[in-house]
Amino acid sequence: MVFKTMFIPGLYVHVPFCRSKCPYCAFYSIASASLIPRWLNAFKKEISHYKGHFDEFDSLYLGGGTPTFLEVSDLAGMMEQIFTHFDFARDTEITIEANPCDLTREKTKSLRDLGFNRISLGVQSFEDDELSFLGRRHTAMQSKTALMDLRNRPLNLNPNIFPATSCLLKNGRPLQDFIKRECLPP
Ligand code: SF4
Repeated sequence: MVFKTMFIPGLYVHVPFCRSKCPYCAFYSIASASLIPRWLNAFKKEISHYKGHFDEFDSLYLGGGTPTFLEVSDLAGMMEQIFTHFDFARDTEITIEANPCDLTREKTKSLRDLGFNRISLGVQSFEDDELSFLGRRHTAMQSKTALMDLRNRPLNLNPNIFPATSCLLKNGRPLQDFIKRECLPP
């Protein structure tokens, strides 16, 4: 069976692992690296199950969780599986969500070599006390260093896309509730 849509769909892959769990986070992820090999096996089976179900995708997005928590070799295996079993349009935007403290220069280079051309960086704040309050494991300086490095060495196909992410605080979302309870300014 081939799924037909009016538009070319994008492919989202949820990587449900983080090094630690931020207290405000409502996304599904677990801080249990020992499960990664089993999850990768399940991912491989699911990808091959859906082979031939879609004509092509026009974007690929690895989100989470923290995809950059995975080793480069694991990410390489995932990308090989994805591109072996699915077709993508030309100039496909290929994004990975990253935690600033995962982005060593070597890892950034490896991500580029794997074909990622856009990085969504989980900055959240440039204030260390706010990052600490939010339970984040990176510092403001690590975000700045990662952003400068990405800016100086833009990824492959879309060098004009600024490699950063925004943090929207919506009414009723867990992060805003969390901030309200602690009486922090929005
Ligand atoms: S790193 Fe991101 S996905 Fe992981 S727990 Fe924190 S906010 Fe959630």
